[in-house]
Amino acid sequence: MMTLASSPGCSSTTTATTYVGRFAPSPSGQLHFGSLVTALASYLDARSKHGIWLVRMEDIDTPRCVKGMDSAILNTLEAHGLGWDGQVLYQSQQHERYQQSIDKLIDADLAYHCQCTRKQITAMGGRYNGQCRTKQLSNQASPTAIRYPLSGNAPPFIDGVMGAIPQGDTLEDIVIKRRDGLYSYNLVVVLDDDYQGVNHIVRGADLLPVTGTQIALYHHLKLAVPQYSHIPVASIAPGRKLSKQNHAKPLDNNQALENIHRAMAFLSMSPPALTEYQGIEQLLEHAVSLWNMKNVPKTPEIIVDAQESTYHSQR
Ligand code: GLU
Repeated sequence: MMTLASSPGCSSTTTATTYVGRFAPSPSGQLHFGSLVTALASYLDARSKHGIWLVRMEDIDTPRCVKGMDSAILNTLEAHGLGWDGQVLYQSQQHERYQQSIDKLIDADLAYHCQCTRKQITAMGGRYNGQCRTKQLSNQASPTAIRYPLSGNAPPFIDGVMGAIPQGDTLEDIVIKRRDGLYSYNLVVVLDDDYQGVNHIVRGADLLPVTGTQIALYHHLKLAVPQYSHIPVASIAPGRKLSKQNHAKPLDNNQALENIHRAMAFLSMSPPALTEYQGIEQLLEHAVSLWNMKNVPKTPEIIVDAQESTYHSQR
């Protein structure tokens, strides 16, 4: 397989062993308690290892993005003392780099056009059977999706929280650019983490099912695979993670100290009472010293108090 040119955003200031982590919110809504837990865990893991902590705005799925949410998210991070390093990378400003990678894959016959509809894929049993691989289609007649062939099993890996994740029979030829012209999450998350030199990814366990696909993509593109750690997601009811759809309550920036304290408790960090702290900086400093990934509950979700959302009252 080919190697895609990669230009790690941090390479001029870091060495190969420097920890580089990131928080990658999608600006489709304001941060809520669940996103704070993810931001805090990735921040603490990076800072406890004297690493770099980046913020990347995952605004690739433009129809889902809400104007002004990027600044609202950054304000909330700042209000909660979660300062990031360097400039925030916006995926919406990276299209040229994504397209270059896709063009290279197509030129090398490693990616192909696919005209199958959702209905056809459902008829295949929901898993794409690769039928356009050899059709040599182009985008000329009607818009096509671009797929990258991933076959075999998703590789096993050791997750920093969940432990050994066995190999999975989940791979299929993935869409890397959608028929509507949008770049797909699975491609750009891999390209960006590589581009930014990210080598540690701490994120919600809802993304555990796609991690095998992402690792397979790293292998195919001959890129260095980061260390993954998946923390439990905060849910309002089983299978209903806090999200805009589940009416998650936006974080109140005036309650930053309390919010961080609750997020620490969620991560089983047993923080002393809030009255012990004089401010957010002191609380975060203590949190960095308390942080130990081994104490994070090895469960995909934790049900949180009904006050985190209006889900129950609006049903
Ligand atoms: N942008 C994704 C989200 O907000 C996170 C993706 C990732 O961490 O890989 O859920």
